[in-house]
Amino acid sequence: MSDQHAELKLFVDGAWQAGEGRDTGPVFNPATGAAIAEVPLATAADLDAALSAADRGFRRWRDTDVETRAGILRKAAALMRERVDAIATLLTREQGKVIAEARAEVIGSAGVFDWYAEEAKRAYGRVLVRPAGQRSIVLRQPVGPVAALSPWNFPVYLLAKKLGPALAAGCSVIAKPPEETPGCTSAFFRCLLDAGLPADVCQLVFGVPDQVSRHLLASDVIRKVSFTGSVPVGKHLMRLAADGVKRITLELGGHAPVLVFADCDLEKTLDMVVPQKFRNAGQVCVSPTRFHVEEPIYEAFLKGFAERAKALPVGDGSDPASRMGPLANRRRPEAIEALVNDATAKGARALAGGERGEGGYFFQPTLLADVPLEADIMTNEPFGPVAVTRSFRTEDEALEQANRLPYGLAAFAFTENGRRTNRLGDAIEAGMVGINTFAISVPDAPFGGVKVSGFGSEGGSEGFDSYCVVKAVHQA
Ligand code: NAD
Repeated sequence: MSDQHAELKLFVDGAWQAGEGRDTGPVFNPATGAAIAEVPLATAADLDAALSAADRGFRRWRDTDVETRAGILRKAAALMRERVDAIATLLTREQGKVIAEARAEVIGSAGVFDWYAEEAKRAYGRVLVRPAGQRSIVLRQPVGPVAALSPWNFPVYLLAKKLGPALAAGCSVIAKPPEETPGCTSAFFRCLLDAGLPADVCQLVFGVPDQVSRHLLASDVIRKVSFTGSVPVGKHLMRLAADGVKRITLELGGHAPVLVFADCDLEKTLDMVVPQKFRNAGQVCVSPTRFHVEEPIYEAFLKGFAERAKALPVGDGSDPASRMGPLANRRRPEAIEALVNDATAKGARALAGGERGEGGYFFQPTLLADVPLEADIMTNEPFGPVAVTRSFRTEDEALEQANRLPYGLAAFAFTENGRRTNRLGDAIEAGMVGINTFAISVPDAPFGGVKVSGFGSEGGSEGFDSYCVVKAVHQA
């Protein structure tokens, strides 16, 4: 058992709590498969205590002046930057990503808090045109206590993207980060407490996910749910939210197409797409995944991609020489192996990787060419280090492929043709389109999907608004 993890606890109603008959769950280091800690799982009594604290905390926080709220968020961001090494080390040990990516995740989270600290001050309403002496005003107010359910692929950043806008807007929060990565999210959470966040404004619980979400969503206290994760779980939570008519934001993953046109700068494109594909071992909801490449450059694209993929140093994320770490949990290599085997059995060519790695939860950086549309991987999100490729002849054919699936989160294209850029931006069915760029997850822009990828946005003023309700006040 690691000393770094000796203190894993829940934070409920102003106190860190563990033991006392609570069940625990194991935490693993994905680079070795070794158990490194035990995380306490919340009981029904813990969740009830969290709900009543959140109810109280909401009234206090809603009425706290915006400068104080913003100041606490800014201070928490500063603490994250100060503690980046400690938080990133925990993140890599629990999740597997390489240490440089873990550091970038923590720094990015601080950026989200800073941005929302400023946005909180711009929660302006409207004054409507009325006869002299009369007033009608539209107010934006915090929606109420929030259940924030975040996943294991970016455990710190995706928690920050829920807590930043919710706290900025004046909501209280019960956060349930993933049980796979409790140490880094607890260390992140401590930044908020040490920055002066009142103890009842934010609760941190771990537990059996379905028990926690059912308990929280059944309570009248919770007014809004924000979930990032898989489509089936999102649908399940939407049903639970419907009973209490709770607002819900769902970010449910995708299967991002990448349209590579013959007029792109091929070497530059390859230098961008290959590291991006294998970032976080492909466990990114907006990971570039279905590569549709224009016929004249298809073979050159495959050759350049395979060379780069084979040369990528894979290893324990804590080794600074590693460029890709293991997958985050035991389920992922199993799922990816099944998808790759299905594709090759149906005629796809594996030009790089295709197999699990040694020890831990590793899977090799993999390139599959000529993948038939009937292969499961052309429809099901791989969420791993696999690029699937096909060639196309016309722009219309490429667009048809891009829009073929029920997903609509992110899409990318590489082209030097300006008119085409406009056409693609208009026609691709996705919440985010990156043309000659992957920089689509930034604090000031909305991030979210269409179709089964979910609805609502995290990021930008849209992300702030998702934690607000509007009220019209009329005076005669
Ligand atoms: P899963 O469907 O079991 O769980 C997905 C996430 O939801 C996990 O974080 C899990 O803890 C949580 N969860 C599960 N049941 C829940 C419930 N009833 N209430 C609340 N939370 C619940 O899948 P998994 O094996 O953990 O991940 C595999 C798939 O999940 C991936 O293929 C990917 O599609 C999706 N995923 C997406 C994202 C994203 O960023 N959109 C992140 C993580 C996972």
